Amino acid sequence: MWRARIAALLAIGIGLAGVLWTRFAGDPCARPNVVLIVLDAAGARHFGAYGGDPATTPEFDAFAKEATLFLRAYAQAPTTIVSMSSLLTGKYAPFVPADGVAYRAADEMSIAEVLAGDGYATAAFSQNPWVSETFGFDRGFDTFEVETSKWAESPETAPIVAAATRWLSDDPGRPFFLYLHLLAPHAPYAPPAPFAGRFGFDGSVRTDGGRLLEHQQGSRPLTAEDVGRLARAYRENLAFADAQLGSILDRLREQDLFGDTLVIVTADHGEAFLEHGRIAHATTLYEEMVRVPLAVHWPACQGAAPAQWAPVTEVRTLHRMIADATTRGVVGRAPGPRGGLARAMVYDPFRKKVLRSVTRDDGYKLIAATDGTIELYALKDDPEERHDVSGERPEIVVELAGRLVPDDAAFAATAPPKALDTTTKARLRALGYAADGPPGRD
Ligand SMILES: [Zn+2]
Repeated sequence: MWRARIAALLAIGIGLAGVLWTRFAGDPCARPNVVLIVLDAAGARHFGAYGGDPATTPEFDAFAKEATLFLRAYAQAPTTIVSMSSLLTGKYAPFVPADGVAYRAADEMSIAEVLAGDGYATAAFSQNPWVSETFGFDRGFDTFEVETSKWAESPETAPIVAAATRWLSDDPGRPFFLYLHLLAPHAPYAPPAPFAGRFGFDGSVRTDGGRLLEHQQGSRPLTAEDVGRLARAYRENLAFADAQLGSILDRLREQDLFGDTLVIVTADHGEAFLEHGRIAHATTLYEEMVRVPLAVHWPACQGAAPAQWAPVTEVRTLHRMIADATTRGVVGRAPGPRGGLARAMVYDPFRKKVLRSVTRDDGYKLIAATDGTIELYALKDDPEERHDVSGERPEIVVELAGRLVPDDAAFAATAPPKALDTTTKARLRALGYAADGPPGRD
């Protein structure tokens, strides 16, 4: 009896030791490397894999064929800080809709902290000044560099690619989490050769963020023709971003890291070109601002994964996908059901309203504003959100209104706002943001 018990205990002990040994001996399956690549302001519809012109994004489209392509992925906000804060923490990130204060990333545990706590080497390289120490994004990263020079002579030598390559070539000797936040295709839509002019942009309109802001504020509206030109320039800049993505993926392959690495490519939000009267981002919750590309390459050793994932997916669920694949021993296989809802929110500084939206798996999407305005769209029949059907389907309005992000999650200022230092202000001004103005301008 006792002997059997001791034998059983010994067996359990040996089993546990085996599990721990596997875990800490660097089994790439149990603890795969993770690479997260975010293209700033890259709307899904511009990618070949999502029905856009394949000439724009050949690298992403090729990557998507080796990955699970999420067909309906939504950012949780059309602004960098709130969206990235949601992605990294897995929570709906709060924001402070008051004039003159800056956002700060939510004080939730970020996936970088989770992985660092589990022994991962963690590094982030950002080209976007919003994704900086100022806003708390360095939490959990051993290495955190903000490099705002946008381009060099070719995408292969773009500073962010070079920095990541340097970091990758210095083997940390343990699993790693690498987060790269590219600025392109975000304005200014001014890529280097050979991308400049590739899709016919003739340079006849300024493409910097300051020009877009002048239009947003009504001080100097753009004509419809100008906006058409800007859309071309944007596509050229997206092709540039795509090439940088290709360089990073090539580097992973050259170092024989790609196969068993969890590689995620997505965007923090999209970009509008007057589809609903607005340009750039940060002001509405229509598809052009919140629908993003998402492709996830699972470690090959974790088994087969679906080629496509059709249900509505929130980008914030990446937090759980990464945690599942790295710290809970749950392999990638399939992303699993996510509840079939995607929520988003934003403070529109021009209308001075908070907007919240929820998109259901059957394609019904409700957008509700704090002034009581309600819009309902049936995306399956009306993907461009032209026909508000809230009057025809009141029962769906009621049901979805109860599923918006709750007020306390939307407005709880869990982190005190921080004043911006002059360097950050200068960086943001260079991108055309009125950094002293109301939040929402990212
Ligand atoms: Zn952004």
